[in-house]
Amino acid sequence: MAVIYATRDGTPWEPKYLDSIDAELCIGCGRCFKVCTQGVLKLMGIDDEGEFCDPFDDDVEVERKVMVVDKSGACIGCSSCETVCGTNAQKHSAAA
Ligand code: SF4
Ligand code: SF4
Repeated sequence: MAVIYATRDGTPWEPKYLDSIDAELCIGCGRCFKVCTQGVLKLMGIDDEGEFCDPFDDDVEVERKVMVVDKSGACIGCSSCETVCGTNAQKHSAAA
């Protein structure tokens, strides 16, 4: 059952938590990272074999960068990251 909260004036408000980011759609722009106040997100690299890697490791051939959900449990469901994502890479859902 979804958990329903309220804004200060009593208007019902339902959090939408970040579930996942589609690595095929994400362009690693970092916009979601900048607006998240909870430290949920982390930038990762993808190497020439398609594996995740340290995006700042000079010894690795980083093909591209993508955002991943790092601390899912810290998400407050504000949806700010979804609002700024220009590629519709994220999936959000209400609490189970
Ligand atoms: S919904 Fe809010 S708290 Fe959760 S990851 Fe997105 S910006 Fe961060
Ligand atoms: S805003 Fe969207 S495209 Fe940009 S890093 Fe976040 S998930 Fe990826």
